[in-house]
Amino acid sequence: MQFTDLKSQYAALKASIDARIQRVLDHGQYIMGPEVAEMEAALAARAGVKHCVAVASGTEALLIALMALDLKPGDEVITTPFTFAATAEVIVLLGGQPVYVDIEPDTCNIDAAKIEAAITPRTRAIMPVSLYGQVADMAQINAIAARHGLAVIEDAAQSFGASYQGKPSCGVSTIGCTSFFPSKPLGCYGDGGALFTNDDAIAKAAREIRVHGQSARYTHTRLGVGGRMDTLQCAVVLGKLERFDWEIARRKALGDRYGALIQASGAPVQLLTVRPDRDCVWAQYTVMLDHRAAVQLALQAAGVPTAIHYPKPLHHQPAYAAGCDPQAHPMSIAASQRVMSLPMSADLTEADQDRVVAALAQACAQAAAAVAPVAA
Ligand SMILES: *Cc1c(COP(=O)(O)O)cnc(C)c1O
Repeated sequence: MQFTDLKSQYAALKASIDARIQRVLDHGQYIMGPEVAEMEAALAARAGVKHCVAVASGTEALLIALMALDLKPGDEVITTPFTFAATAEVIVLLGGQPVYVDIEPDTCNIDAAKIEAAITPRTRAIMPVSLYGQVADMAQINAIAARHGLAVIEDAAQSFGASYQGKPSCGVSTIGCTSFFPSKPLGCYGDGGALFTNDDAIAKAAREIRVHGQSARYTHTRLGVGGRMDTLQCAVVLGKLERFDWEIARRKALGDRYGALIQASGAPVQLLTVRPDRDCVWAQYTVMLDHRAAVQLALQAAGVPTAIHYPKPLHHQPAYAAGCDPQAHPMSIAASQRVMSLPMSADLTEADQDRVVAALAQACAQAAAAVAPVAA
């Protein structure tokens, strides 16, 4: 069993993806070819926003978003410590200061009720992460941002296809940033990403920053990066869009089914909460449990791959811990010790899912027995 089954996905989409790749090889416009604009238009429509700008990766999308907002050294960006490092990395790269706000223990997303207390005169933006494919509490976050004149950047690397109060992820804030890393809900066959906005000035800035700050050929108006997405990778995304609606529905159904099976199994495993006004596209199907290391080993022995997203909160990572109290953000610390992700992809079969849950229940029982005090 694979953790993410990209081979079955390719088998299902082979004709479409191969034809689109062949078309690029035939026209030869490998950089900024027609598939780039075609993908941008298709994704902007899906996100319900005016502009989509394709870029080299999800990380690059976050970096370009902050550059388009003209983040200055010393500026603060409020974000979650319970995320992939890229979220904070781009802030630090620009000389900014990530200011961490702890998570809600049941969704693992930033706790919006704690954001306002973290705002200072240096705060420029709030960067929530739609972790595991569920959008954070955007209505509350946008309201706080509006009160304080801040921009909101959704790190939607894991949530393209999700919806929040009927609106698509990537279209619920000043800027939405997603990733097409192969294992994300919408992936390509290499690196890729995109940022989304309704703001014409931000979109124009992002398009310039993506090509070394050029406003016209060899006119470098601003500082930029080499941040384009390859035409070939856009062709792959276009191919994958052909059954993307099915994949999203399937991921949600598999997520529901995981929850029901795990509950029925009686395994001592805590499920994440999905709020009633949104859904989760389960970029990772993540649960929380005790004795994680032992359970992981037993699952590995049973042929069930697992992963940890993420084993340390960012304020415990050497590169991002400066000035942080290691005891701060206890919910993020607890989550980092208890989360475990199970195999998930649209092509996961019900039979394999049954096997995963049976193995999980058995592994939990074994792990609990191994640590139980020996009777006198
Ligand atoms: C994957 C991911 C990124 C980075 O995306 P890349 O395309 O790998 O650069 C950023 N933030 C989160 C939350 C992610 O999961």
